Amino acid sequence: MKKAFLYIKILVLMLAVAVGTMAATRKTTQGFRLGETEVKINLYENEGSNITFFSPHHNEQIARVLAREFVDKYGGRLVEIESFDDKGKPSRYVRFTANGKTFSLDPNRIFTDNGRNCDALPAEIDVLVKDFADRLLKVIFADGKGLHDGEKFIVAVHNNTDVDSKEESAKSSDLTALAFVKTAGHGAFEAQAEGAFLSNMEFDSDNFIFLSSAKHLGFFVEKSFNVVVQKSSAKLRTNGCNVDDGSLSVFSAQNNIQYICLEADGTNGNFRQRQMFEAVYELLRELKPVDNKTVATR
Ligand SMILES: [Zn+2]
Repeated sequence: MKKAFLYIKILVLMLAVAVGTMAATRKTTQGFRLGETEVKINLYENEGSNITFFSPHHNEQIARVLAREFVDKYGGRLVEIESFDDKGKPSRYVRFTANGKTFSLDPNRIFTDNGRNCDALPAEIDVLVKDFADRLLKVIFADGKGLHDGEKFIVAVHNNTDVDSKEESAKSSDLTALAFVKTAGHGAFEAQAEGAFLSNMEFDSDNFIFLSSAKHLGFFVEKSFNVVVQKSSAKLRTNGCNVDDGSLSVFSAQNNIQYICLEADGTNGNFRQRQMFEAVYELLRELKPVDNKTVATR
């Protein structure tokens, strides 16, 4: 009997070691001051792939949990903003106090001057927001404005709500692939997009991939995703808040960074967004430079 216990002990020890070596993702947390509030920025890093994911909205849990899972599995980086509402629930908005007053901002509307001018915050608060945005950009990008070595694009991850569960009146401003199409009747976001490819294989218009350029359009079209292509950076340089809204997609286009956003309905499970993550890693493998040693020389 004693021997059996020893074997179990050894087995448990071996399992613990195996789990320890598999979970190679490192998590570091930085506290960013925003007025009198400290906002936690989490960075998850794992060897194996040159890719950075960004999860700005803490309530969009399917997206950020999947991003974490894929970084564990294939490697890469995930930058995550931790934000909670006054009841302690994960929130889209970052709440903070400055000069004794409470403010709230959408962390995906802070990356350009124009976007920051579009919010309703006083000028002295916008200065703090710009500083916060600049520090955040330095975690996401190399030097705050470019891809890290070996990276081909930045990937933002989001979930939207199910459009079918909303009232008819609220649908016009809902974020679906159709909202980027002028002729679809309610192109609430058409000012930002060149247009959209609507796949006959997509069952839910809440699921789409948003690209900052047409460079990888064909790849995702062939994978049967709805794909929205953002306007070129020249067309994004306006002071219209429906065009340059301060989002990371606009910042990326203005800095010549390929940007991919995985937007999926969060109410029907995670399998469609999981397919999007798999596709992104597949694209990454396709774009890997050919190993010189395998190329025949003359
Ligand atoms: Zn979002």
